[in-house]
Amino acid sequence: MLADRIWHDAQMATMRADLEGVGLIDRAMIASKDGRIVYAGAKSDAPSGLDGKEWIGCHGALVTPGLIDCHTHLVYGGDRSHEFKMRLAGASYEEIAKSGGGILSTMRATRVSDDDELAYDALKRLDALIADGVTTLEIKSGYGLDLENETKQLRVARRLGNERQVDVVTTFLAAHALPPEAGGDKDRYIELVCREMLPQIARSGIADAVDAFCEGIAFSVEQTARVFETARILGLPVKLHADQLSNLEGAALAARFGALSADHLEYTSEEGAAAMGRAGTVAVLLPGAFYFIRETKVPPVDLFRKHRVPIALATDCNPGSSPLHSVQLVMNMGATLFRLTVEECLLGVTREAARALGRLDRVGTLEAGKHCNLAIWKVGSPAELPYRFGINQLSARIYRGTGELTC
Ligand SMILES: [Zn+2]
Repeated sequence: MLADRIWHDAQMATMRADLEGVGLIDRAMIASKDGRIVYAGAKSDAPSGLDGKEWIGCHGALVTPGLIDCHTHLVYGGDRSHEFKMRLAGASYEEIAKSGGGILSTMRATRVSDDDELAYDALKRLDALIADGVTTLEIKSGYGLDLENETKQLRVARRLGNERQVDVVTTFLAAHALPPEAGGDKDRYIELVCREMLPQIARSGIADAVDAFCEGIAFSVEQTARVFETARILGLPVKLHADQLSNLEGAALAARFGALSADHLEYTSEEGAAAMGRAGTVAVLLPGAFYFIRETKVPPVDLFRKHRVPIALATDCNPGSSPLHSVQLVMNMGATLFRLTVEECLLGVTREAARALGRLDRVGTLEAGKHCNLAIWKVGSPAELPYRFGINQLSARIYRGTGELTC
């Protein structure tokens, strides 16, 4: 077979589930044709007759799947640096809320922005993630909080995927906060989400999944279940912001609905972790938010390991609680703050992140048939990725077989 491109002399972390750890293969070779991997393995095992139009020598560099950021709120208006400044000057959350801060300040800025303005700002954030090695990311709505503006956010998210060499997965998150026009009536707003917004969103095909924020300051278990039941009827997979600030047994709720993932999980109980393990729901840990809001309760990583819950890591890039734009830094934070192993950190931003998006059939590992999305690193061993921070260690990024011709 004549491949389009062959990368050789690489140290490849395949992330294959049938191999140990990150599935390391030395003196490896990866061949791509029409954007897909046709061979990824030891050069010595390559099928005879495999040749390439272009050969790229990697000189022993580490090659991983392109990074996947499986939880972001990348599209929004304005920013919240003013609140950050107030907090540092000693203002309480109450004072910030009274001065118009919080999620609702981002909602107002998002509602008054048009598509071009939202895209212009979001592209700067997306370009930072792309420069970091990201080839797939998830983007949530949740700052529009009405049909028109939630749709606008999702439309802009889709547009970003057309304007850059990156795959965008969209998630509908109207059950993020209560908009002011709801007059404090959460049940009535959830009714609106389920009866009017969700059916139209599903019909338009603009969202790939549905998310909710289950928390004392957001929506209850019953209200979240109502959203999930509607999503199930409409055939959309679900995920959940769960157990971030308190234990409402959000993890168990997500598992009950076969959620792709439950995210945050600082306060998750053993019952919740066990339910996730049985359901195959991925634990998406978000160390950027943990760090930025100075949380002290660490997610129960040992329980996730014990109950064989897949663990992913993501930036949670958002203006309020995690203005973080680097998956490389997320790996370091996962190791330092949550004591994840090197293997867990790398799998968390590749294979398990793909699983959390329901995209493991296409991306997340280096195997024949998958998209040829690669991150080629200026490092000699996997441990160097979560080890250093404040430095971009990416050497080249390949999206569907295209990108730099050097290693
Ligand atoms: Zn989030």
